[in-house]
Amino acid sequence: MHLKSLTVKGFKSFASATTLRLEPGITCVVGPNGSGKSNVVDAIAWVLGEQGAKALRGGKMEDVIFAGTSGRAPLGRAEVTLTIDNNDGALPIDYTEVSITRRMFRDGASEYEINGNPCRLLDIQELLSDSGIGREMHIIVGQGRLDAMLHAKPEDRRAFIEEAAGVLKHRKRKEKAIRKLDAMQVNLNRLTDLTAELR
Ligand code: ATP
Repeated sequence: MHLKSLTVKGFKSFASATTLRLEPGITCVVGPNGSGKSNVVDAIAWVLGEQGAKALRGGKMEDVIFAGTSGRAPLGRAEVTLTIDNNDGALPIDYTEVSITRRMFRDGASEYEINGNPCRLLDIQELLSDSGIGREMHIIVGQGRLDAMLHAKPEDRRAFIEEAAGVLKHRKRKEKAIRKLDAMQVNLNRLTDLTAELR
């Protein structure tokens, strides 16, 4: 599985439809300061369902919609499509290519699509949940956070890596199951006491 292409239209500085083709391996985005390199990364986070304006370096969610320049009027909607190569079947869906689209209007409403079919954000989250990519995974490390990661304590760095590898989800499930088992044990003890009293 790898990211195959990203099409951005009306998103931040990308007023016109722009498609970036991504090859397997490392992709480098090079450009002068303020030319929109980080906006490309924001677009990936956004199409995967990012809900926090701050994480997208804006004040409010509508800030992702092209706000206009001296030569171009603002637009009414932002749209991003991320196409993922699924030849290895890493995503649990019967397609070798999966396109995820998010569209947002100035009233704040978002629409999502998988391969052109309208869906809920939850459907996208479920599709990606075991793939190592997704909104809550630490797969996107921003400029500021890179420094934090390099200076993090070994155990904190391990937590980052575990989350990216999808281990954290299972650890949380395990902790939840242990809590449930503990509660069950308390109930069992109480039941044993009551049975003994009734004898
Ligand atoms: P640096 O190298 O300094 O980190 P960069 O190449 O990562 O810069 P970005 O931060 O991606 O640049 O892009 C910043 C540009 O995006 C600014 O010129 C800003 O005006 C423009 N921009 C951000 N949001 C919008 C928007 N909603 N509408 C129009 N332009 C926007």
